[in-house]
Amino acid sequence: MNLHEYQAKKLFTRFAIPVPESLVASSPDEARAAAQTLGMPVLVKAQVHAGGRGRAGGVQRCESVAELETQASALLGSRLVTSQTPPAGLPVSQLLLEAPVVIARELYLALLVDREAECIAIMASAAGGMDIEAVAATQPEAVLVSRIEPAVGLRPWQCRQVGLFLGLTAQQQRAFEGLLSGLYQLLTSCDARLVEINPLVVTEDGELIALDAKLDLDDSALYRHLELAALHDPSQEDAREIAARAEGLSYISLDGDIGCMVNGAGLAMATMDLIALHGGAPANFLDVGGSATADRVARAFALVLSDDKVAAVLVNIFGGIVRCDLIAEGILAAVEEVGVEVPVVVRLEGTNAALGLERLAHSGLAIETAATLVDAANKVVAAAAGQGATIQHAGGEA
Ligand code: ADP
Ligand code: MG
Repeated sequence: MNLHEYQAKKLFTRFAIPVPESLVASSPDEARAAAQTLGMPVLVKAQVHAGGRGRAGGVQRCESVAELETQASALLGSRLVTSQTPPAGLPVSQLLLEAPVVIARELYLALLVDREAECIAIMASAAGGMDIEAVAATQPEAVLVSRIEPAVGLRPWQCRQVGLFLGLTAQQQRAFEGLLSGLYQLLTSCDARLVEINPLVVTEDGELIALDAKLDLDDSALYRHLELAALHDPSQEDAREIAARAEGLSYISLDGDIGCMVNGAGLAMATMDLIALHGGAPANFLDVGGSATADRVARAFALVLSDDKVAAVLVNIFGGIVRCDLIAEGILAAVEEVGVEVPVVVRLEGTNAALGLERLAHSGLAIETAATLVDAANKVVAAAAGQGATIQHAGGEA
């Protein structure tokens, strides 16, 4: 779960990580009142769960109250599109108003769970600011990765090593040790997967201040951080993913056009691989779980169909504990309830597979069945391509 910058910065102060003075506003009136407290000029920062705001007009410096009101009215209620948001952007409901800092240097600092190395890693670069991804891609030597030994935790020598790499002075080094320790405390005590400061700036006066804050919490550990779980902002997430979570389904929206409904994460991944191998692209990853019932299948199927970009659906169920005839009933129930306008290919294997396929065949619905996974992948890729061509053709004539 991601937090907004303003929420992360509030946590930063709890761990003695310096941030600029700031206030949150959810209306132009609140923004004006906040500016009275903070004084002018002021920075207006759109709160969305994505970076790249600076380049997209989501971070604006306002010299006057009139300018602030114009910017606040334009940003609040709009959808901000940045290089890191979905194409439709993310809704802006809050602004962070922040005192401007006079920047001498922009650094990058992050702590993250390095799953491959099974430890927490520090990432740091003297080339912080808005283009860190490009720096990492073109000049990997400009990014230091320093792994923290889990048995001993973060040690002072390691803080000095990172500080030296960042080119800090002896005095800044002392402040940096406190800041990095605070960040480490925050990551471990909040069960975060990532905490990132980009930029961490050195001010003209030589102070270190976190100007941006990104915090990604481990969903699996939220049950022991109810105070943090309450900061969840569903408006920043895919509506279907939220609905799926409420149903206990694992659903992740992807960029392709083939909806996949599968039971078991391993089978789901194999299915996506096969679709890709046959030239298609999955629109989602949907795992109805190992113990799928007809009812769950019906709800999952309806969820897949509700996605406009789905041009064809592949249902791939392995009946182990679950019986395939019940799965077929679930599919039929969902089709009856929500209707289906795209081709559906079904592959059932395992307990009562033949009975399940027979039910589908006799349903009178245009559901194509497949004997093997390869057959299913071929059929659904062809079906999606056919749909795409129809849509394109219709569009071309209009
Ligand atoms: P994003 O990463 O989404 O673009 P940031 O919070 O990093 O948003 O802001 C973008 C840039 O705006 C920063 O790299 C920094 O140069 C500038 N900036 C942000 N906050 C402040 C501030 N309080 N004072 C001065 N400059 C700021
Ligand atoms: Mg940033």
